[in-house]
Amino acid sequence: MNAPKVEGAIGGTVKGWCPSLLTPMESGDGLLVRVKPRAATLTAEQAETVAAAAARSGNGMIDLTNRGHLQVRGLSEAGVEGFAGQVAQAGLAAAEPRAEAVRNVLTDPLGPDDPAAAFDSHRLARRLSAVLETDPAFRELPDKFGLLVDAGAFLPLAGCTADIMVRPDRSDLSLALAGGDRRLGLPESAVDEAVVRLLAAFLAWKREQGDGEFPAPQLRMKAMVAACGASGVFEAAGLSGAQRAETVRTGAAQRPSPGFVPMANGSQGCFMLAAPFGSLEAGALAALAALSRRYADGTIRVTPWKAVVLWGVSPSEAGCVCEAALDIGLVAAPDDPRSRIVACAGQPRCANAHADTRADAAFLAGAGLAGTGVLHVSGCAKGCAHPGPAAATLVAAPGGYALVRDGRPGDPPVHTGLTRDTAARILSNPKAAVPGSTGSASDYR
Ligand code: SF4
Repeated sequence: MNAPKVEGAIGGTVKGWCPSLLTPMESGDGLLVRVKPRAATLTAEQAETVAAAAARSGNGMIDLTNRGHLQVRGLSEAGVEGFAGQVAQAGLAAAEPRAEAVRNVLTDPLGPDDPAAAFDSHRLARRLSAVLETDPAFRELPDKFGLLVDAGAFLPLAGCTADIMVRPDRSDLSLALAGGDRRLGLPESAVDEAVVRLLAAFLAWKREQGDGEFPAPQLRMKAMVAACGASGVFEAAGLSGAQRAETVRTGAAQRPSPGFVPMANGSQGCFMLAAPFGSLEAGALAALAALSRRYADGTIRVTPWKAVVLWGVSPSEAGCVCEAALDIGLVAAPDDPRSRIVACAGQPRCANAHADTRADAAFLAGAGLAGTGVLHVSGCAKGCAHPGPAAATLVAAPGGYALVRDGRPGDPPVHTGLTRDTAARILSNPKAAVPGSTGSASDYR
């Protein structure tokens, strides 16, 4: 099996390509593959299967991705096939590699368990996932092309986008397109067919572009919308109906915090548990499965926030869940400084990295953080872990960390050449003097 090398992995530069279960990616610590739970849900049995297979065939490290996937690391070429077989047998993958590669449907974690949900997002997400999996026409979609189905009221996917998005809209649902300024209202019964038509219209347009202006993997709905307008895309798909101005959704700030949230009737609630810096050990995933069997509904809900949700926890047992989660090493409360630090894979997991970002993030969390904003620790200027701006961003470079305030990794830094100790002094005390770095002291919010 020849694993493609891509940007962010060892020495490659192929853009727009993503690993999946059957198409591994080479990285600094071996091959990595992605497991895509259907409708944001893993049963406890499925979680145990993934955990055992990750420990047996990989290095036991599992990243939670911002598309709600589990990224299993450190596999050998010989181990990929066995791992994929066990995961597929557990009902977590399509049999055909291209079908699995394009089966990207992000949905809110609670689905019909959200008492204020406008529709059953999990049922719709499963149907759309099945369309992508079974219709060979859609295997031409780019790997990163994705759908989003969000009915969440308690845990909505605020700030998340995808090529085609389905959300509640007054008494109906609406379809919105990446980069589009219009959304189309539809009854729920018409949504499956409308999504299929949009996918077909996108593929027809993509074929027309040939190898011209855009390299094929980067052709996404946003490019079609830029070329044709959102109304033009709906028209190309033969969709008519009420169109309204799309509300621009930003909202990294609305990312929910770890902790227990009781539901309206007070008899049960959900517990969000974050993986420190987006990474779980296989043993922690297995322990989460046991925790869900004991205190929740026996499932683990995945999210785009590098966290999982246990649903059906009784308020009287929330304290036990919190204690057990801390024992597993998870982040269970919003005042845990790790809850607002985002770090990419870093050394030795990514060959582009100039620092062990996760170890440095743990050090910074231990040193204390002033303010309340998000700290992003990035191994290089690419900024994989947090594409949006953060209150503070540390970008590793050969000469040390650069510190960017209220920006992204590529933005002008206020300090460069920082060791992690100096960075910790600045971030825990913005007034600290900073010898040996360029730039001036600045506030961290
Ligand atoms: S941001 Fe991190 S994971 Fe992404 S390419 Fe750079 S070092 Fe690697």
